[in-house]
Amino acid sequence: MRRPMVAGNWKMHGTRASVAELINGLRHLALPSGVDVAVFPPCLYINQVIDGLKGKSISVGAQNSAVESMQGALTGEIAPSQLVDAGCSLVLVGRQAGGSGVLGGPAERGGSRGGGHGVRNRKFAAAQACGLIPVLCVGETLEQREAGKTLEVVGRQLGSIIEELGVGAFANAVIAYEPVWAIGTGLTATPQQAQDVHKAIREQLAAENSEVARGVRLLYGGSVKAANAVELFGMPDIDGGLIGGASLNADEFGAICRAAGN
Ligand code: PEP
Repeated sequence: MRRPMVAGNWKMHGTRASVAELINGLRHLALPSGVDVAVFPPCLYINQVIDGLKGKSISVGAQNSAVESMQGALTGEIAPSQLVDAGCSLVLVGRQAGGSGVLGGPAERGGSRGGGHGVRNRKFAAAQACGLIPVLCVGETLEQREAGKTLEVVGRQLGSIIEELGVGAFANAVIAYEPVWAIGTGLTATPQQAQDVHKAIREQLAAENSEVARGVRLLYGGSVKAANAVELFGMPDIDGGLIGGASLNADEFGAICRAAGN
């Protein structure tokens, strides 16, 4: 039985004051015991969030990390080992802006815009090498969905990691299906649209290793709110959500976490 997970991606939001308020709201939430809850603040506030959430069972992750595991001469980057040192346990992979840069665009997802998967795969591997759990974000653009290419695109994004790192890499990772057209747009994939992609992801993994496929958590991300979470999380292959905008409101985020515990 997979344990549901709800993770909040705060993206580039917050100030010390608003983060303190959000921490306070999170501290007061009654969270369901059967759900893993995590937040991904901007890097600047990771220490503040880790200190502020001490004693509360909410994990903290980073929104990005470097391609090298250990410290080194990479200006402006943060090594996964430094994130571990700060107290992080997770990191998002494949959400970083670049190329079009739209909405934390899909540049690192590769395959979707003709880019390579190299940087993304190296970040995934470097994070795992340090003991961080990578949350691999995959998803198609609207153009690709309308062209009927969703499963092909997502399959390629996943396949590249399987080829390079082996399916075993997913024994200790989370996958988030986030259709680019649904991120921050207010458009949500229907539960059935999301389920169809999640099922295909699980089948792709199962073709290599059924145990890994059964165990890996597949989160849906894209305009999830308390109002649509129950229906989405009720689908058999949706194990929770990666929440953007709605995670900036502690009460709304708490309601989404509770929806995953139903
Ligand atoms: C996200 O940033 O991962 C996300 C899914 O955003 P939103 O929920 O705002 O669409």
